[in-house]
Amino acid sequence: MQYQLDARVRSFGETVSELSGEDIYSCYQCGKCTAGCPVAPEMSHTPNQIIRLIQLGLKEEVLASLTIWLCASCETCTTRCPKEVDIAKIMDTMRIMSVKEGYACKEPTVLKFNETFLNSIKNNGRLQETRLAIAYNLKTKQFFKDMGLGQKLFLKGKMSFLGNKIQGKEAIQAIFERSKVFLDKGER
Ligand code: SF4
Ligand code: SF4
Repeated sequence: MQYQLDARVRSFGETVSELSGEDIYSCYQCGKCTAGCPVAPEMSHTPNQIIRLIQLGLKEEVLASLTIWLCASCETCTTRCPKEVDIAKIMDTMRIMSVKEGYACKEPTVLKFNETFLNSIKNNGRLQETRLAIAYNLKTKQFFKDMGLGQKLFLKGKMSFLGNKIQGKEAIQAIFERSKVFLDKGER
Protein backbone atom coordinates (compact mmCIF):
# COMPACT_ATOMS: atom_id res chain seq x y z
CA MET A 1 0.00 0.00 0.00
CA GLN A 2 1.28 3.47 -0.87
CA TYR A 3 1.10 6.00 1.98
CA GLN A 4 0.46 9.64 1.14
CA LEU A 5 2.01 12.07 3.59
CA ASP A 6 0.37 15.38 4.41
CA ALA A 7 2.10 18.23 2.48
CA ARG A 8 3.29 20.04 5.63
CA VAL A 9 4.79 16.81 7.04
CA ARG A 10 6.42 15.96 3.75
CA SER A 11 7.83 19.43 3.24
CA PHE A 12 9.91 19.42 6.46
CA GLY A 13 11.27 15.93 5.76
CA GLU A 14 12.02 16.84 2.17
CA THR A 15 13.70 20.08 3.16
CA VAL A 16 15.94 18.20 5.60
CA SER A 17 16.71 15.56 2.96
CA GLU A 18 17.57 18.27 0.42
CA LEU A 19 19.72 20.33 2.77
CA SER A 20 21.58 17.39 4.29
CA GLY A 21 21.76 15.30 1.11
CA GLU A 22 20.47 12.33 3.18
CA ASP A 23 17.36 10.24 2.56
CA ILE A 24 15.44 10.73 5.80
CA TYR A 25 12.75 8.27 4.72
CA SER A 26 15.14 5.34 4.41
CA CYS A 27 15.43 5.13 8.22
CA TYR A 28 13.45 2.13 9.50
CA GLN A 29 13.96 2.79 13.23
CA CYS A 30 16.31 -0.08 14.06
CA GLY A 31 17.87 2.03 16.84
CA LYS A 32 21.50 1.11 16.11
CA CYS A 33 22.46 4.79 15.97
CA THR A 34 21.13 5.40 19.48
CA ALA A 35 22.66 2.20 20.89
CA GLY A 36 26.13 3.49 19.95
CA CYS A 37 25.70 7.18 20.74
CA PRO A 38 27.88 8.18 23.73
CA VAL A 39 25.71 11.21 24.49
CA ALA A 40 22.26 9.58 24.14
CA PRO A 41 21.61 9.25 27.91
CA GLU A 42 21.86 13.05 28.27
CA MET A 43 19.75 13.91 25.22
CA SER A 44 16.13 15.07 25.28
CA HIS A 45 15.41 12.82 22.28
CA THR A 46 17.60 9.94 21.11
CA PRO A 47 19.09 10.12 17.59
CA ASN A 48 16.55 7.65 16.14
CA GLN A 49 13.72 9.66 17.73
CA ILE A 50 15.02 12.83 16.05
CA ILE A 51 14.94 11.07 12.67
CA ARG A 52 11.41 9.84 13.35
CA LEU A 53 10.25 13.33 14.37
CA ILE A 54 11.65 14.69 11.11
CA GLN A 55 9.81 12.00 9.15
CA LEU A 56 6.63 13.02 10.96
CA GLY A 57 7.18 16.70 10.19
CA LEU A 58 7.46 17.79 13.84
CA LYS A 59 9.79 20.63 12.99
CA GLU A 60 9.45 22.69 16.16
CA GLU A 61 10.15 19.73 18.45
CA VAL A 62 13.34 18.97 16.53
CA LEU A 63 14.67 22.50 16.04
CA ALA A 64 13.97 23.51 19.64
CA SER A 65 15.40 20.30 21.12
CA LEU A 66 18.39 19.96 23.41
CA THR A 67 19.60 16.93 21.44
CA ILE A 68 20.80 18.82 18.38
CA TRP A 69 23.10 20.91 20.62
CA LEU A 70 24.43 18.00 22.64
CA CYS A 71 25.41 15.93 19.60
CA ALA A 72 29.21 15.82 19.59
CA SER A 73 29.51 15.04 15.85
CA CYS A 74 31.49 11.91 16.68
CA GLU A 75 29.82 10.05 13.76
CA THR A 76 29.42 6.76 15.64
CA CYS A 77 25.74 6.73 14.62
CA THR A 78 26.64 7.36 10.99
CA THR A 79 29.09 4.45 10.99
CA ARG A 80 26.57 2.07 12.58
CA CYS A 81 23.52 2.85 10.42
CA PRO A 82 22.61 -0.14 8.20
CA LYS A 83 20.78 2.22 5.83
CA GLU A 84 23.80 4.51 5.51
CA VAL A 85 21.96 7.53 6.87
CA ASP A 86 24.52 10.15 7.91
CA ILE A 87 22.85 11.13 11.18
CA ALA A 88 25.76 13.36 12.25
CA LYS A 89 25.25 15.41 9.09
CA ILE A 90 21.53 15.64 9.78
CA MET A 91 22.26 16.91 13.32
CA ASP A 92 24.53 19.54 11.78
CA THR A 93 21.78 20.53 9.35
CA MET A 94 19.33 20.81 12.26
CA ARG A 95 21.67 23.18 14.12
CA ILE A 96 21.99 25.39 11.04
CA MET A 97 18.21 25.43 10.48
CA SER A 98 17.59 26.12 14.17
CA VAL A 99 19.88 29.17 14.16
CA LYS A 100 18.60 30.46 10.81
CA GLU A 101 14.98 30.15 11.92
CA GLY A 102 15.61 31.89 15.25
CA TYR A 103 14.91 29.05 17.70
CA ALA A 104 16.31 29.57 21.20
CA CYS A 105 19.38 27.40 21.68
CA LYS A 106 18.86 24.99 24.60
CA GLU A 107 22.60 24.89 25.34
CA PRO A 108 23.89 28.42 24.51
CA THR A 109 27.49 27.67 25.51
CA VAL A 110 27.72 25.15 22.63
CA LEU A 111 26.54 27.75 20.13
CA LYS A 112 28.96 30.32 21.55
CA PHE A 113 31.83 27.84 21.36
CA ASN A 114 30.97 26.97 17.72
CA GLU A 115 30.84 30.66 16.77
CA THR A 116 34.12 31.45 18.54
CA PHE A 117 35.84 28.40 17.03
CA LEU A 118 34.77 29.27 13.47
CA ASN A 119 35.61 32.97 13.91
CA SER A 120 39.09 32.01 15.08
CA ILE A 121 39.69 29.98 11.91
CA LYS A 122 38.11 32.63 9.69
CA ASN A 123 40.19 35.47 11.15
CA ASN A 124 43.50 33.65 11.62
CA GLY A 125 43.39 31.06 8.86
CA ARG A 126 43.84 28.34 11.49
CA LEU A 127 42.84 27.68 15.08
CA GLN A 128 44.68 29.83 17.63
CA GLU A 129 44.11 28.00 20.92
CA THR A 130 45.01 30.90 23.23
CA ARG A 131 42.81 33.39 21.43
CA LEU A 132 40.00 30.85 21.24
CA ALA A 133 40.15 30.21 25.01
CA ILE A 134 40.25 33.94 25.83
CA ALA A 135 37.43 34.85 23.40
CA TYR A 136 35.24 31.95 24.58
CA ASN A 137 35.76 32.71 28.27
CA LEU A 138 34.95 36.39 27.69
CA LYS A 139 31.85 35.51 25.68
CA THR A 140 30.58 33.17 28.38
CA LYS A 141 31.64 35.52 31.23
CA GLN A 142 33.94 32.91 32.77
CA PHE A 143 36.75 35.41 33.14
CA PHE A 144 39.16 33.34 35.24
CA LYS A 145 38.39 29.90 33.84
CA ASP A 146 41.47 27.91 32.72
CA MET A 147 43.77 30.66 33.95
CA GLY A 148 45.94 28.35 36.07
CA LEU A 149 46.18 25.75 33.31
CA GLY A 150 46.86 28.44 30.67
CA GLN A 151 49.70 29.83 32.77
CA LYS A 152 51.34 26.40 33.08
CA LEU A 153 51.02 25.69 29.35
CA PHE A 154 52.38 29.14 28.52
CA LEU A 155 55.41 28.71 30.81
CA LYS A 156 56.18 25.33 29.24
CA GLY A 157 56.00 26.88 25.76
CA LYS A 158 52.92 24.85 24.78
CA MET A 159 50.80 27.94 24.14
CA SER A 160 51.62 31.25 22.59
CA PHE A 161 49.73 34.53 22.79
CA LEU A 162 50.56 35.57 19.26
CA GLY A 163 49.90 32.23 17.56
CA ASN A 164 51.44 31.07 14.30
CA LYS A 165 50.90 33.01 11.09
CA ILE A 166 49.87 31.02 8.06
CA GLN A 167 50.10 31.69 4.37
CA GLY A 168 46.98 31.79 2.20
CA LYS A 169 44.68 33.17 4.89
CA GLU A 170 42.59 34.76 2.14
CA ALA A 171 41.80 31.33 0.66
CA ILE A 172 40.34 30.23 4.01
CA GLN A 173 38.30 33.43 4.23
CA ALA A 174 37.01 32.79 0.69
CA ILE A 175 35.75 29.35 1.83
CA PHE A 176 33.77 31.05 4.62
CA GLU A 177 32.30 33.55 2.16
CA ARG A 178 31.32 30.74 -0.23
CA SER A 179 29.68 28.75 2.58
CA LYS A 180 27.74 31.82 3.64
CA VAL A 181 26.35 32.24 0.12
CA PHE A 182 25.36 28.54 -0.01
CA LEU A 183 23.72 28.72 3.41
CA ASP A 184 21.87 31.91 2.52
CA LYS A 185 20.52 30.17 -0.55
CA GLY A 186 19.52 27.17 1.60
CA GLU A 187 22.15 24.97 -0.09
CA ARG A 188 24.93 22.95 1.52
S1 SF4 B 1 20.66 3.33 12.59
FE1 SF4 B 1 19.88 4.24 10.70
S2 SF4 B 1 18.06 3.05 10.17
FE2 SF4 B 1 18.57 2.60 12.31
S3 SF4 B 1 17.31 4.04 13.50
FE3 SF4 B 1 19.30 5.00 13.20
S4 SF4 B 1 19.06 6.24 11.33
FE4 SF4 B 1 17.37 4.78 11.39
S1 SF4 C 1 27.32 12.11 15.98
FE1 SF4 C 1 25.97 12.91 17.59
S2 SF4 C 1 24.14 11.63 17.48
FE2 SF4 C 1 25.75 10.56 16.39
S3 SF4 C 1 26.67 9.17 17.87
FE3 SF4 C 1 27.89 11.04 17.90
S4 SF4 C 1 26.99 12.32 19.50
FE4 SF4 C 1 25.49 10.70 19.01
